[in-house]
Amino acid sequence: MIDCKCDYCGTIFQTYPSKVRKAKNHFCSHSCHDKFRQATAKRQCVICGKEWTAVGASKPAYRRKTCSEECQKVAQAVGLECGRAPKHGTRKSSQGYIEVLMPDHLLANANGYVKRSILVMETKIGRPLQPEEIVHHKDGDKENDHPDNLELFASNSEHVKHHYRQGDYKLRGVKNGLKQRGEK
Ligand SMILES: [Zn+2]
Ligand SMILES: [Zn+2]
Ligand SMILES: [Zn+2]
Repeated sequence: MIDCKCDYCGTIFQTYPSKVRKAKNHFCSHSCHDKFRQATAKRQCVICGKEWTAVGASKPAYRRKTCSEECQKVAQAVGLECGRAPKHGTRKSSQGYIEVLMPDHLLANANGYVKRSILVMETKIGRPLQPEEIVHHKDGDKENDHPDNLELFASNSEHVKHHYRQGDYKLRGVKNGLKQRGEK
């Protein structure tokens, strides 16, 4: 018999070496095994910011940091997928956008950060964006970079026209209307 640490409660218990080799996770009791299987964890999607609950610590998806397959694909492509330490740091810009540290990216700003919405859009359409292209958030939530929430405009004037058609400027004029939605 050898010492083994329970993957749920951390208790050290005695077991056979062959058992340790055979299974990926080890438990001191059936109840710890059940609790591990049913474990839930609240997570926030690294792409769209949506809160979701991961269920079942034994499943590979339990450690995922995204709410859905779509967000997961994007996260893998931009290096924000599940892992012990994410490859790239993120931060919230003063304008409220989520940015990813990628100094080598063509559209990185002076601090080396790129808007996450740009990275998601590039993955969605399969090509790099041009500097004049604008990524618009359909629901007005700048932190929701879910692929379905983003729309690409060829230029800022196209983008502004879109907001105008939506009626975002009716009351306060163009500039304030956009400010109200939180976009520049
Ligand atoms: Zn245990
Ligand atoms: Zn998501
Ligand atoms: Zn917009």
